[in-house]
Amino acid sequence: MSTTIALESIPPRFLKMLREVWGFSQLRDSQEKAIAAALANRDALVVMPTGGGKSLCYQAPAVYRGGCTIVISPLIALMKDQVDGLRQLGIPAARWDSGSSNQEKRDLIEQLRHQQLRLFFASPERALQKDFADLFRGNQVPMIAIDEAHCVSQWGHDFRPEYRQLAQLRRHFPNASVMALTATATQKVRIDILEQLKLRSPDITVSSFDRPNLTYRILPQVDVLSQCQAIIDRHRNASGQSAGGIIYCMRRTDVDQLSIALKDAGYSVVGYHAGLSYQQRQQAQDAFVNEKVQVVVATVAFGMGIDRSNVRFVIHASVPKSMEHYQQETGRAGRDGLNAECTLLFSSRDVKSMRGLIKNSAIENNAPQTWVDSQMVQIEEIATFCKLPVCRHRRIVEYFGQVYSSEKCGACDVCLGEIDVLKDSKVIAQKILSCVHHMQERFGTNAIADVLIGSNSREIQRRGHESLSTFGILKGHKRAVVRDWIEQLTMAKILLVTQDSNYPLLKLGPLAKEVLFGSLEPVLVRTVESNLKDSSKSIARFAYDETLLERLIDWRNEVADKQKVAPYVLMSDGVLAELAARRPSSIDRLTGVTGLGSKQIAQHGAAIVGLIESYCSFKSVPMDQPLRFPPSILRDSYGVRFKQNRSLQQIASDLNVTESTVTKYLVEYILDGSISDVSVWITSEELDRVYQAAEKLGSGLLSPIYEACESQISYNKIRIALAFRPLHSQARSG
Ligand SMILES: [Zn+2]
Repeated sequence: MSTTIALESIPPRFLKMLREVWGFSQLRDSQEKAIAAALANRDALVVMPTGGGKSLCYQAPAVYRGGCTIVISPLIALMKDQVDGLRQLGIPAARWDSGSSNQEKRDLIEQLRHQQLRLFFASPERALQKDFADLFRGNQVPMIAIDEAHCVSQWGHDFRPEYRQLAQLRRHFPNASVMALTATATQKVRIDILEQLKLRSPDITVSSFDRPNLTYRILPQVDVLSQCQAIIDRHRNASGQSAGGIIYCMRRTDVDQLSIALKDAGYSVVGYHAGLSYQQRQQAQDAFVNEKVQVVVATVAFGMGIDRSNVRFVIHASVPKSMEHYQQETGRAGRDGLNAECTLLFSSRDVKSMRGLIKNSAIENNAPQTWVDSQMVQIEEIATFCKLPVCRHRRIVEYFGQVYSSEKCGACDVCLGEIDVLKDSKVIAQKILSCVHHMQERFGTNAIADVLIGSNSREIQRRGHESLSTFGILKGHKRAVVRDWIEQLTMAKILLVTQDSNYPLLKLGPLAKEVLFGSLEPVLVRTVESNLKDSSKSIARFAYDETLLERLIDWRNEVADKQKVAPYVLMSDGVLAELAARRPSSIDRLTGVTGLGSKQIAQHGAAIVGLIESYCSFKSVPMDQPLRFPPSILRDSYGVRFKQNRSLQQIASDLNVTESTVTKYLVEYILDGSISDVSVWITSEELDRVYQAAEKLGSGLLSPIYEACESQISYNKIRIALAFRPLHSQARSG
């Protein structure tokens, strides 16, 4: 690939037109290069970050050269904005997409027949239809511009299979040059674009990916709501008016929850995701673009084609999908060239969820393994970017294959000295490495962390690891913190995770020796400890006694073994976790445990209660506890409404969820004792009917109760009644 070509200079007549039509008196270097290629009828690849003036590269030559330039674009919104903008400038442009009416299509054909159009926008699907070339009969087509060309590549972030067939257009328009444009492309994606679109000795223009006016920060995710509030508040002007900002979330439900929580806290925000109707999305977009609303909470569906230039902050409430997404999404801040702030709230849990989402989406869409692999690589890359304390500007620029020359950028958390680096990083790293070495590189992260903190778990005892010389050399640190350090060392390639066996094992990486012998100073960063939960271990949303759960699992497995059934068939881990949390003191109280049927209680109740009782008295642990759920934004937005005595239906419509989702939360609130009166949601007569049925039939299955109540009491009400049962009987007996 050669990027140096002799440039035809731009004719003065072109510059005159540019001034007259667009009001520009000069071009940026990269625009000039791309336009020169177009005027010389050469194929071109134009890589320009958002806000770089990309569309001018084909619009201006289209007007200058005459004829009808075809523009392929993946999004209706994008096409509409461009066509509207061109018409504002007096340039005859039109689009043909799924939103065009028959009359519009007829007009368009008429305009083409009279050779009146300079630019014609179409989706890739439309361009690939058989009759497409016929539309242009009698027109000269000097160029085909393919916008968002990264859609051609499965390595890119918006792979669209139809894009791969666009090379076919060449056959119908043999004299047209092809210009592929994208705001974001790594070397790999660039090569893919060139190959897939079969560009002929193309001119390649890549402008700088650095956005010096953006300040990048990556903070541990602690409390998304208050972290977002702090950033919004920081960007208010003297009269309290907040500045334009975008908050990106991973899932639609995250968008709904966060926007509700922000609204509840008195902020003016609007939500945006692909699950909303076309009208709702349009309204949200218009409100934001026209500055009626300053802050939009959105999934990645938001932003393409949004031209608002005075966005002062972009928050990633969770990890973006890839470096390219991050670059593109943060690129929407500060397009006016003024300073803007980009904050990413990082949590390893989000990285894990994202991997899960990809796997599910691959199964749903029957995607090939290569796609899954490339998505996983992209997640690893962004996770590494987040965790390594290296200048953010440098990492982004280098990721896109460019050289970053400054030592310090002065506009990222690392260079501004905001990152809390551990003073004894080297000693800690050496301790971890020597532990991996002493354990012969045969164990995974958890086992190594356990040895380092001197855990007295049964696994340690079973393996005799207390006798290792590295046992307990990081005593006093939390297991989650040590695991985080190990993760940081892995990202820095000082440790490696291998997948040789069924089990990921830690091995010394290529740089380990240099750290052990002191020639390399590793940098470990302090992470907010409250953010680090041993999430790999927790199996329930509520808190439970881990040791008791282990005992219950042992007991269940023994019984299952005797009965020759699978353990989870006998009793699920979820039931056991709830038992370990509530620790019921009598067979009577077992009835409140979710998923424990009356038959199971009759058969195993005595054994379970006996086991729990002896554990609790031996350990002096209190029995009959409510379930305790950790606080979260989501739970709070339900809790507030329960306290206001709103009906299930009202809350469901407030929060844009189903009534059964509302019920799920209501049940949690009843179980943890925060709600002691359920009369808003179920009458006392209904309660009595459910309890009578449950008495006879047990509370393990809902459908027999539902039938016994002659289908007159909804499943949601039955769930509420059963959750309330222990409180109800307490109230009666007390
Ligand atoms: Zn920096």
